[in-house]
Amino acid sequence: MKIADDGVLQFTVPMPFALREVHVYALETSTGWVLIDSGFPSEAARAQLSAELQQAIGGLSRIALIILTHFHPDHSGLAGWMQQGSGCPVVIHEADWPLLQRMNTLDMAGEFFRPIAKGAGLSSGDLRELFQEVNVPVTSPTIVVGGETFSIGGRDLDLVWTPGHTEGHLCVFDRRTGVLFTGDHLLARITPHVGRVHAAGRNPLHDFENSLALVERMAPRRALPAHEGPVEDVGARCREIAAHHQSRRQQILAEVRAQPKTAPQIAKDVFHGRKGGMHQMLALSETEAHLEALVDEGLLVRVQDDEAAEPSYELQA
Ligand SMILES: [Zn+2]
Repeated sequence: MKIADDGVLQFTVPMPFALREVHVYALETSTGWVLIDSGFPSEAARAQLSAELQQAIGGLSRIALIILTHFHPDHSGLAGWMQQGSGCPVVIHEADWPLLQRMNTLDMAGEFFRPIAKGAGLSSGDLRELFQEVNVPVTSPTIVVGGETFSIGGRDLDLVWTPGHTEGHLCVFDRRTGVLFTGDHLLARITPHVGRVHAAGRNPLHDFENSLALVERMAPRRALPAHEGPVEDVGARCREIAAHHQSRRQQILAEVRAQPKTAPQIAKDVFHGRKGGMHQMLALSETEAHLEALVDEGLLVRVQDDEAAEPSYELQA
């Protein structure tokens, strides 16, 4: 545990793969603690967090509210356990709630994590065991859409809808301190993953870019993300990530200039350094998000010759 900001504790919880650890933040208020995210649902993570919360805040019963930035298990996985021990409300965006419910069935969690687990050398059996360790689903969530303010024990916390990484991703802005809790929307070093899975008519990349612009306009004093260290110059980091996606667009356009290509071919050429199941899966879904964005922008056309075949993409004439 460490002090991350004025009245904000940071608990760093282990996870068995990928980013290896995730931060849970606890904000002190005069009527208890507000937790932002909850950690990965393994027994190791639960035991560590249980001991640290006991020591730092006096245990689960001192939690007054839990806000989930998004449904991914490293953020939401221990929320059910925390809710059981505290009886407190759990806040989640309406677009991410159905996904969290699906994630609570072990099969869905297994499906979601299979490529990631493979990359970390875990079998499907290991994975199943891992997800059975702590499987306490969230019940009766407080569903939000962003724009709400939770005033609790002297803090005013604004929920900011920042779709992109997931469709229902939320950032939490603490008005008094100017700190923005960014979940996976804004990270200090890693470019957050932007996938293809959004409701019809929404492009995840366009959503993500709009959300970056929104955070830049908010100009928070600093950002505390769920992985890695804090972001001190939020505007600069927003612009850096936006520029990364612009150059990715140019790379993809260059790839199809000579001849039409399918999404897997483009992903392979653009992300050529990426090896392993998870990296390939993320590269493909991110490429697809870009391709759909370029189609929407009128720069590419999608060509489907035969129902069964992968569509290919070519420059708009
Ligand atoms: Zn995530």
